[in-house]
Amino acid sequence: MRINGEVNQSNITLLETDGLKRCNVCKKYKMLDHFHKHRLRYDGLASACKPCLNIAANNLYSSQKLMARKSNARSVTPAKK
Ligand SMILES: [Zn+2]
Repeated sequence: MRINGEVNQSNITLLETDGLKRCNVCKKYKMLDHFHKHRLRYDGLASACKPCLNIAANNLYSSQKLMARKSNARSVTPAKK
């Protein structure tokens, strides 16, 4: 029933009480460890699962790269911490 965090979506009502959370992005129920911790959220977890956040981060990264290329900024340094 649970392989690599993939949850059989047809058993949602059964599984909802069993440590699962629905991702706001892909709308799938996944195990809680597939969500990043987010201390500001009411349930302490991010609203999107890790794979979805990765995709969002990649999209953001590539769009930033594109913008950097467009503006011809040669010395693009990541923001300092
Ligand atoms: Zn997701």
